[in-house]
Amino acid sequence: MAEYAAESRSHRLLAVWGHHAPQLLCGSIVLAVGIGLLPPPGLLMLTAPVALMLFILGTWLAMRRHDRRLCEHCMSSMPLNAAEHAVKMGRRFWMAHTGSEKRFLIPYLIVLLGSNFATGPIGRTFWAVMQLSMIYLILSNTTHRRLQPWCPWCSDGGGGQEEDDDVAPPPLPHNDRQLA
Ligand SMILES: [Zn+2]
Ligand SMILES: [Zn+2]
Repeated sequence: MAEYAAESRSHRLLAVWGHHAPQLLCGSIVLAVGIGLLPPPGLLMLTAPVALMLFILGTWLAMRRHDRRLCEHCMSSMPLNAAEHAVKMGRRFWMAHTGSEKRFLIPYLIVLLGSNFATGPIGRTFWAVMQLSMIYLILSNTTHRRLQPWCPWCSDGGGGQEEDDDVAPPPLPHNDRQLA
């Protein structure tokens, strides 16, 4: 009994971690940029980046797990005027779609990794901006996942230009895969 309770508690913890993973990842990126620009003294300079890296990896795994199944926190935090909300998020939807295309993703990753070798004040600023740009990508993907039924790019087969579709989308996101 106690074992079962402990297990369900760790599952719940993992679910909460996964649910908040996008925010945690954004915070980690800011922290990584901070460490990169102002390296901490002594041993921390070696241990902090490693600890952060492990935390990011764990958070990313928790996010993958979260995205595969139905999340009660997501359901309860769904805005009532989701359709209206989605209209304002057009740019994020576009980013989520463009960001997953190879012709954008590969050059982006090359510049992102390449910026690690940039030196001097201008190079370091460029590096920081590139790292911070990941935050927008993460937020775009999170918004897209939650409001996907209202994404004009998904419902229009990738076109996204026409907005004459007045059919009301289902009240909750499609989760047919996640229920399996
Ligand atoms: Zn969630
Ligand atoms: Zn979409």
